[in-house]
Amino acid sequence: MSGRAHWPWPISVDRIYAGGAGREAEKSNRTAGNLHVDAFRLALESDGWLVEPTYPNHEAVERAWKAKRDGFVISGISRPNDDKTLGVPEINGWCDRGISLRPIPLIYPGFEVVKALAHHCPECKRDGVETVRVAFANRACRGCEPALRAKLETPGWCD
Ligand SMILES: [Zn+2]
Repeated sequence: MSGRAHWPWPISVDRIYAGGAGREAEKSNRTAGNLHVDAFRLALESDGWLVEPTYPNHEAVERAWKAKRDGFVISGISRPNDDKTLGVPEINGWCDRGISLRPIPLIYPGFEVVKALAHHCPECKRDGVETVRVAFANRACRGCEPALRAKLETPGWCD
């Protein structure tokens, strides 16, 4: 595929339910995204992650799941096109300290790469650095921390 090679999946939610060719294009886009989520889930499973339904009483594990391994968590959403609910193919991840992992590749890269994401700074794009939580879920290295804090933790950010 062209364009971004990691999540979030490039899709425009507001056009899914519009009529005409745009709607068809978004439907196939969404289908392709769901296939990526499904493939990601199967890869996690075969790599030793424990995969469970996010909503055990409401929704099948194939549609909404959460995978765990050594404190790391990756979750996925893969809902079919005929759903009346809004939603996009989606994968999110958190390290063992609860800070979000990003960017998560479209294709499961293996546990070593997932662990390395915990030491990647999305701000300056450096790898192998110590990272800290900023605001709710953002990650930054010590060098980028002050600027990101100033940007995101404006007065009232945690109200
Ligand atoms: Zn940085």
